[in-house]
Amino acid sequence: MRVVLLGTGSADGLPNPWCDCATCVDQQPRGRRAPTSALVDGRLQLDSGPEAPGQAARLGHSLAGLEVIAIGHAHHDHCDPAFTLYRSWVAPQPLTVIGPAPVMASLRPWLTDIGIEFDLREVTAGDVVEASGYRFTVLAANHSAFGEAVLYLVDDGERRLLYATDTGLLPASTLAALAGTRLDAVLLEETFGTLTGLTSEHLHLATFAQTLAALREVGAVTDDTQVVAVHLGHGNPPLAELEAELARCGARVHPDGTVLEL
Ligand SMILES: [Zn+2]
Ligand SMILES: [Zn+2]
Repeated sequence: MRVVLLGTGSADGLPNPWCDCATCVDQQPRGRRAPTSALVDGRLQLDSGPEAPGQAARLGHSLAGLEVIAIGHAHHDHCDPAFTLYRSWVAPQPLTVIGPAPVMASLRPWLTDIGIEFDLREVTAGDVVEASGYRFTVLAANHSAFGEAVLYLVDDGERRLLYATDTGLLPASTLAALAGTRLDAVLLEETFGTLTGLTSEHLHLATFAQTLAALREVGAVTDDTQVVAVHLGHGNPPLAELEAELARCGARVHPDGTVLEL
C-alpha cells in the first residue's frame, strides 16, 4: 500500500493565509499544508476538499485511475462536491463514493445535473464495505457535520491503514472495533496543538497522545505502526517544537506530498 499525503493541514490550511503568528511564519517557507486528504495506490482517495484534486496534480499524481473516494464527513475541507463536475468533463466511467448520509446529501444536487452515474455507497458506523479491492470498516468519529461523521479502517488484504480525521477522543465502540487490529499506519488528526479548551470534537497535543495510548492498549498501534499527525492547524507550535512533542508519543509529521510505503 502506497499512501501519498495530498494534504496535512486543517480546514484553513497551514499557514492560515490571514495570520502572522509564529507557527504560520515558520511554516511559510516550508510550503503550505493543504486541508487533509490522502491518495492510496492511485486508486483510492480519502477525503476530497476543495484543494485535494489540485494538490494531486501539483504533486505529480494523476487522478485518472481513481476508482473510489471515501469521505469521512460533510465539512467543506473534506467534501467539496465540485470534484464530481470537473471529473465528469473527462471521465465517463463510474466512480464509487463512500460516505455517511450528510456527504451523500451534499453530493446529490450536483450529480442530478451531471448525468453520469456515480456509485454512491451510503454508510454508517459499524458497516463494512468492499470496493476496488479494499475493505472499509466504517468507524464512529467523535465529530459531527450536519449529522454523522465517520473514520475508515482501510484493508487491502495485506496492509491496514486507519484514516482518523476529524475526531476528538475516540468513542469506545471505535476502540473496540479496532482491538487486536495490527495497524501498519495511522493518519490521526491533531488540529489544535497547544490550544486546549476548544471543541472536544478535535484533538490537541495532549488528547492526541491520550488517543495513541488508547490505541496501543487495545493492540491496534504497535511499535511497527507508522503514526502520522495530520489536520494540523496553527494552534500547533513551530515545526521543530511540534516534531519533538510528537516524538515523545511515537508520532511524526510529514510535509504534503510525502509518500508512505506500507
Ligand atoms: Zn476538517
Ligand atoms: Zn497563525
